[in-house]
Amino acid sequence: MSIYDTLGARTIINAKGTSTRVSGALLHPEVTAAMQEAAQYCVDMAELQASASKIIAEATGAEAGIVTSGAAAGLLLGTAACIAGLDPAKMARLPDTTGMKNEVVMVRSQRNQYDHAIRSAGVRIVEVGLPDRIAGAGVRDAEPWEIAAAVTERTAAIVFVAHGSAHPTIEEVARVANSQHVPLLVDAAAQLPPASNLRRFLSAGADLVAFSGGKAIAGPQGSGILCGARDLIMSAVLQQLDLDIAWEQWSPPPTLIDKHRLAGLPPHGIGRQCKVGKETIVGLLVALRRFLAENEQSRHDRLLALVKRLDSATGTLRNARTEIRTGGSTPRFVLTLDRASKLSAMDLCIALQNGTPSIHADPSQTPNGIVSFNPTALRPEDPDTIGRRLRELVG
Ligand SMILES: *Cc1c(COP(=O)(O)O)cnc(C)c1O
Repeated sequence: MSIYDTLGARTIINAKGTSTRVSGALLHPEVTAAMQEAAQYCVDMAELQASASKIIAEATGAEAGIVTSGAAAGLLLGTAACIAGLDPAKMARLPDTTGMKNEVVMVRSQRNQYDHAIRSAGVRIVEVGLPDRIAGAGVRDAEPWEIAAAVTERTAAIVFVAHGSAHPTIEEVARVANSQHVPLLVDAAAQLPPASNLRRFLSAGADLVAFSGGKAIAGPQGSGILCGARDLIMSAVLQQLDLDIAWEQWSPPPTLIDKHRLAGLPPHGIGRQCKVGKETIVGLLVALRRFLAENEQSRHDRLLALVKRLDSATGTLRNARTEIRTGGSTPRFVLTLDRASKLSAMDLCIALQNGTPSIHADPSQTPNGIVSFNPTALRPEDPDTIGRRLRELVG
């Protein structure tokens, strides 16, 4: 009996990957043991974030960093930091940004569901570029000069959503941001692995970068990292921490928060609602250490072993072709249904999901007749179960 059974909830087989909807990553026992131990003591949360900052700085090359309750929380806090700086009056007013810098510039094709977190800080997104899929010259997307032209005295930040095919590149966007003296906030939530991407965006010139902790780092589902310039991180953590304390009693760690640079102590900030617990901070830091200790080859081999196991458990199917795909950062098992198949790829996803146990595959390529299986969050026994079910449904 698992804890979920005792709660009347069921577990699923997660072959979709570390998506939030299917509960993120599986935690290594070393991570959960650290979280359990963390829960047995109390700490000063600002001091714990200062320790985290040091570890995150070493891992990313940033001046400072904090643990957030996810990459989306990092985007909210990062935007709030770019708007308010170290001004407690501005922090107290958010998301009312009347009279403040209240716009962020973003390439139109990078707009996505997570930019709600950016807008929550009180900014309007100014879109640039025309991702033209009709005219025939190919997708032109946006150019660096278009971003530069959209920057005004109201611009709080330029936002870049990291993606392999992003155009312009991070280097080009950073050049615009730096020459216009506007901070560059990067959403790199799902850009790991490779671990080298922990440093990539900052070294290209970004001021703030948000990562998800519950995806490839395999930290607690509700965790993330925001790292970057010291002053912006100081602003972000001030807007996240619980500050219900008298000014004279408040002695935050100076490596993270330089009290003497503040006109006063702001009340709880806009990020107070995305608070992060001590167990989460400790779990994320231990997961980050493990993530850094595993090289790309052994990470790849570990995941490939699960994919191979799934391949052999599935065998040859009558109504579909299967293959192992190793291009990209994560190997996958990919099933393509024959044209003659009565079952569509989406039908197969739904059937897998409605079975017992419920199996969640990656449906993103179902319009092309493809169902894909991501090994990242599979338990060792899962490939056999999935293979058996596939033989039942398409064998
Ligand atoms: C997953 C994701 C997020 C959100 O990350 P959380 O850690 O779940 O908050 C934001 N942006 C992108 C591009 C993502 O893929």
